[in-house]
Amino acid sequence: MNNISKTLLVIFLLVSTFSNFSPTLGQSDGYAIEILPSFSIATQEDIPRIIELASKNNVNTIYLHVKRGTGTNPSPGVVFYNSKIAPTFYNFDVLSATIEEAHKKSIKVYAIIPVFYDIIAANKGYASVGPQSEGWVCPRTGFSYEKSIIDEIINGYKVDGIVLEYFGYANNLNCQCPDCLNEFSKRYGVSATRLNLEIEKQNDSELWIKWNVFRSEELTRYLNKLSQDIRTNRKIKLGIIIPPTTYRDYFENTDFGIDVRKIGNYVDFIIFRRQGLPLEYVSDATNGYSLQYDGDIYVTVENKDIGLLNLVYSGADYTKGIIYFQREPWTAQSFSRINKSRAESTNIWAVRVDSREYFNLDLDQLIPIWKKCNINTVIISAGRPYWINFRWPGHDKEYSNIVQLSNGDPLEKTIDKLKQEGFKVVVSFSLNSP
Ligand SMILES: [Zn+2]
Repeated sequence: MNNISKTLLVIFLLVSTFSNFSPTLGQSDGYAIEILPSFSIATQEDIPRIIELASKNNVNTIYLHVKRGTGTNPSPGVVFYNSKIAPTFYNFDVLSATIEEAHKKSIKVYAIIPVFYDIIAANKGYASVGPQSEGWVCPRTGFSYEKSIIDEIINGYKVDGIVLEYFGYANNLNCQCPDCLNEFSKRYGVSATRLNLEIEKQNDSELWIKWNVFRSEELTRYLNKLSQDIRTNRKIKLGIIIPPTTYRDYFENTDFGIDVRKIGNYVDFIIFRRQGLPLEYVSDATNGYSLQYDGDIYVTVENKDIGLLNLVYSGADYTKGIIYFQREPWTAQSFSRINKSRAESTNIWAVRVDSREYFNLDLDQLIPIWKKCNINTVIISAGRPYWINFRWPGHDKEYSNIVQLSNGDPLEKTIDKLKQEGFKVVVSFSLNSP
């Protein structure tokens, strides 16, 4: 099979037999996008233009960053609305203009507020103390300041929801400011002056566990306060963006400090941001979170990764929906990419044939069943390195016993037969296995 490299679409095998490739069911009445103003909005006229595009493309929710989270120019902590508290970036109010235009088109606006990564607040005296904490704010001393920004937004604007980002610590050795250490010592009866957290961490001591429980309780306590104001009093939704570190067990990675098991009563949803995590772990992560947290789980997807979405979300049964974002300005082309991917994923119903199943693969019997179940795509395994299910001159040593026992090329034969029957065929190759 000479053109195997052309045919070989390398994917990781996460899909189970009879998976429904449809990340978009449940979102049939629209989808959500995330807008980072400093990437997408230069002038006030950009706002109605983007909203018009979004509306035409069936967007139902806009997640708008209203405060700078990372990067430079503007610095983290600078806001995108007319604030009396924090410095602003634009000479117009991005939040109010977005809400006004979006609500005309029945699009909801959720404000994303990066909280404890805030250079402006750190420079005001609320800086976190501890290794690698530059730009981070101490939740204990900085909470009132950050809450005042959140209050300004929920009291001054008709937002439909609030999403907290960076609601955590720089890492698990933060925050060691006198306030935090005193509170920890008081609560756990230890002497703050003799505390050496780096040694406790190395020893994975009982005190180290207490330190991390303390941090997660602190964050939960602040979240509870915000939940009172936002959900109970204002009756708007509250969500939180969680980095991909804590989805199996909080104590495996305590860096950020949020223990997902503790926050269920205080947020309506969590948003999982993949960051550097390999794409194939998305379903693993959302499944992991769903064991610890009962509410809705959303996933953000960068527009440039959209081609792989269909495969990734097939395994993510616990994802409520996708929020699309990009680091470039939103244009008509951005939306047509999303629409194309969503249309494809809605129409794909796939079945997977495992390597082992080749031996007894009675296609004549299976094809009518698949057709009856509206299956239109078949994923078949080309094998793995050193165990290939196709003929490749010079690679006889890697032939699987399916190839050894057959005359001809079993993979090619199967593809031909399925294509004749009108199926789309995806060939998978498992790079993870030896
Ligand atoms: Zn502190």
